[in-house]
Amino acid sequence: MNIIDGKALSLEIKETIRQRIAGLTAEGKRKPCLAMILVGSNPASRSYLRGKGNAAAFTGMDSRLVELPETAGNAELLQEIARLNADDGVDGILVQLPLPSHIDENLVLDAILPSKDVDGFHPINVAGLWMGRPCFVPCTPQGIIHMIESTGQPIEGKRAVVVGRSKIVGRPVSKLLLDRNATVTTAHSRTADLGAVTRDADILVVATGHAGLITADMVKPGAIVIDVGINRTADGRLTGDVDFDSVSQVAGWISPVPGGVGPMTIAYLIKNTLRAYELSAEGR
Ligand code: NDP
Repeated sequence: MNIIDGKALSLEIKETIRQRIAGLTAEGKRKPCLAMILVGSNPASRSYLRGKGNAAAFTGMDSRLVELPETAGNAELLQEIARLNADDGVDGILVQLPLPSHIDENLVLDAILPSKDVDGFHPINVAGLWMGRPCFVPCTPQGIIHMIESTGQPIEGKRAVVVGRSKIVGRPVSKLLLDRNATVTTAHSRTADLGAVTRDADILVVATGHAGLITADMVKPGAIVIDVGINRTADGRLTGDVDFDSVSQVAGWISPVPGGVGPMTIAYLIKNTLRAYELSAEGR
C-alpha cells in the first residue's frame, strides 16, 4: 500500500507558484491577490481561511480577509462583493461557506464575477465544467484528480466510484473523471448496497462527511482510495470517511486525513487565483 501524500504534492504546486510570482515581482508587476469574505466567526471557517491565507503568503501572493458580523444581511454582503468585483487589484474572490442561515447563498455566489470566482461555484463556471468550456473548476475536485494522477496509474478505462453527489465535491469530481475516460458511478445516501458498488471501483473517491463509512470489505484490493471527508472525533482529532487502518491493508494507494485532500484544495485555490490574475489585463 502506498500513501498519497497531499501535503507533499501541495508543496510542489505552491513552490511552482512561488517561483512564478517571484518572476512577476522581478518584472515589477503587481502580485496576484485573493480576497476572502468571512461572515460571522465559525471557528472551523476561520481555521480554513487561516490555512488559505498562509498558503497565499507562502507563494508571495497577496490576500485580504474581509470580515462581516454574523448579523450582516444579504445587502451588506452583496455590497462587499460588488466592491471587490470592481477592484482591479483583486483577482480572486471567495466567500467562505457555510453562510449563516439568513443569508441567501445562491444570491451571494451568483454575485461574484465569474472571472474572479476562484472557487468555481458561479453558475457560469459550473455550466462551463459540464459543457466542456473554459472555466474555473472547483479546487477540491482538481486536487483529487492530481492525487489520482500522482499514482502514475491511468484513469482511462478504469471503473471509478464517487461516494457523495454534492455540488462542490461529488458531482464535479465525477465529471472530471468522466472527462478522463473513466467509467463513473456516483453513489449517495440512497444507493442500495453501497459495498457492492464500491467493491467494483479501481478508483474510489469518498466525500460524505460520515466518519469510517468505508471499511476494508467495501474496497477492491489494489484500488486507489481518496478520502475527502473531514470529521472531528469526540477527542478533537480529524478523521476521514474511510477507516484508514483497515482499508490501508487492502488498497493499493490511499490518501490520509489530515494531510490528504485538504492541503490540495488550498493549493488549487492559489493556482486558480494565479490563473485569474494571468487572464486579467494586468497578468497578460
Ligand atoms: P455534503 O453534505 O454536501 O454531501 C454529502 C454527500 O454524501 C451527499 O451526496 C450524501 O448523499 C452523501 N452521503 C451521506 N451519507 C451517505 C451514506 N451513508 N452513504 C452514501 N452516501 C452518503 O458534503 P460535501 O460534499 O460538501 O463534503 C463531504 C465531506 O468532505 C465533508 O466531510 C466535508 O467536510 C469534506 N470536504 C473536504 C474538503 C477538503 O478540502 N478536504 C472540501 C470539501 C468538503 P445525498 O445526496 O443522498 O444526501
